[in-house]
Amino acid sequence: MKVVESIAEVREWVGRRRAKGETIGFVPTLGYLHAGHESLLERAAQESDALILSIFVNPLQFGPGEDFERYPRDLEHDLAIAEAHGVGLVFTPSTREMYPEGEPWVVVDPVRGADRLCGASRPGHFRGVLTVVAKLFGIVAPDVAVFGRKDFQQLVLIRRMVHDLNLPIRIVGAPIIREEDGLALSSRNSYLSADERRRALRLSGALRACREMFAAGERSRAVLEARLREIDADGVQFEYGEIVEPDSLERSDPVGPDSVAAVAARVGKTRLIDNMTLGGPS
Ligand code: AMP
Repeated sequence: MKVVESIAEVREWVGRRRAKGETIGFVPTLGYLHAGHESLLERAAQESDALILSIFVNPLQFGPGEDFERYPRDLEHDLAIAEAHGVGLVFTPSTREMYPEGEPWVVVDPVRGADRLCGASRPGHFRGVLTVVAKLFGIVAPDVAVFGRKDFQQLVLIRRMVHDLNLPIRIVGAPIIREEDGLALSSRNSYLSADERRRALRLSGALRACREMFAAGERSRAVLEARLREIDADGVQFEYGEIVEPDSLERSDPVGPDSVAAVAARVGKTRLIDNMTLGGPS
């Protein structure tokens, strides 16, 4: 496994693999890898010959007062995980390598679907995400890239970007990996105290309740969303809870098995998100 910090070295490595007729699979991350990231690496390995992981805490997607400075980092641990999953190349660029002139002149700004859900409380977040993903796609030029459904709105917007900009990259959405008690894995779970971690179960608990209500015949979006608002108790600050359509992110009307219940809430200082498909497994 090779670890490189420069764009030129990535291009060189990819060029050599392509010359051998290999296809390239790509998993972009912010690092501090957990079993959710591991599942993406496994999926990408199944879908390609050569596997690239990027680890880059992208300043452009963090707003003022967010956790950019204290975002957890552990490169040694991440490299051990990458190695164990057959990663061929790890790209760990500096901010300077990615943004040599500071703020770029040109960004990828989603004009639909980015002002609601997470976008409502994180203005500019998805512009930062799409800009860095577009840059990484330009650097790595993968055949296939794997993203988690955990960041559901992000996945929808990345699919839209690839579609609208005609990027020749196949996007695969992978299922959410959870702890046994239902908590969706997230690098940010490391911020939670034991007590906060217990409270954080209100998110997956409410989503599961919505799925059970749907299975029992409930079809009212208002009733399901009211259940999601019940997250707001016991030291958990509800941010949003909506039933939306998986491709358009529009509020579901009517609610169906493919509709997605999506929530965000703050537990202490930590902002958590989660979602489940009403008629799906989890
Ligand atoms: P992050 O490092 O948090 O930006 O996440 C990198 C990728 O891992 C994104 O595509 C996420 O959606 C995905 N991911 C994060 N947590 C999970 C999880 N619990 N299950 C599946 N994928 C995840």
